[in-house]
Amino acid sequence: MRILITGAAGFLGSHLAERFLREGDEVVGLDNFLTGSRTNAEILSGYDDFELIEHDISKPIVVPGKLDGVLHFASPASPVDYLELPIQTLKVGSLGTHNALGIALANGARFLLASTSEIYGDPLVHPQVESYWGNVNPIGLRGVYDEAKRFGEAITMAYHRYHGVDTRIVRIFNTYGTRMRPADGRVVSNFIVQALRGEPISIYGEGTQTRSFCYVDDEVEGIHRLFHSDHAAPVNIGNPHEFTIRELADVVIEETRSSSKLEHFPLPDDDPKVRRPDISVARSVLGWEPKISLADGLRRTIPYFRELVDRGDARARTL
Ligand code: UDP
Repeated sequence: MRILITGAAGFLGSHLAERFLREGDEVVGLDNFLTGSRTNAEILSGYDDFELIEHDISKPIVVPGKLDGVLHFASPASPVDYLELPIQTLKVGSLGTHNALGIALANGARFLLASTSEIYGDPLVHPQVESYWGNVNPIGLRGVYDEAKRFGEAITMAYHRYHGVDTRIVRIFNTYGTRMRPADGRVVSNFIVQALRGEPISIYGEGTQTRSFCYVDDEVEGIHRLFHSDHAAPVNIGNPHEFTIRELADVVIEETRSSSKLEHFPLPDDDPKVRRPDISVARSVLGWEPKISLADGLRRTIPYFRELVDRGDARARTL
């Protein structure tokens, strides 16, 4: 197969691209390097069947050659990024999804949208099932990401119903692992970098809010299976094991053997109080569930960050 992945130089995009390349597929990676990394693109360029196009998918593009699949992963994804890049985030989730769907339609290719647990906003149903419509504040700071992704789901379903495009929608829950930028600003990268540098761990609010963290290899396996399935409705892919942010800090401190103390910062507006995926659909339709525990995943991730910290070019990024 010949696959286009937008956001291929990003954290998830690059792992997913490598997964397809290892299966023997050809991958065209598209990225504008707004939040993507040159290092990730270089890793992919080590494969003969990888080709890079530097472009912003919010603007139309004709990709030369026939494509069998289009996976739209381009977007700022860390709250600190999308708060700094609100217009770009709205554009890549709306115009970018429209353009990527147009490429899929023109090629008769299968389309997969990287959607998100943010669809559910600050959820009133817990754990989150795919049938829940969510509780999003459209005019809040996080609305730029949440509403762009909600629009992305709506236009994906419209292309499916009106144009007959073969579509998939994955709702990705908090994912971590190697290739995250140290200054990504998300909680796992922040806590690991702070712990390794012996700096205070930045807890927003009391740290009683919960998240459920999926190791990147598990996440990519689920997405890859969904792509090859025939299930057009959205599917949650995430790890259902739920932790408070304080619990996460404790595990990170333990796994890094750090002497860092906790420091509290104000809780950002609209920060979801709880988040945990119901993965019954993924289990029954894809035969998928995550295999890697948080402690295990952190043990696989910490050496990557340690090397960057030792080189002196890794800093956490707080709100
Ligand atoms: N968080 C934190 N300290 C940080 C970064 C994040 O306490 O340095 C909290 C944040 O308030 C949220 C959770 O960790 O409750 C997850 O934040 P993240 O930015 O990773 O992603 P989100 O799940 O909010 O999209």
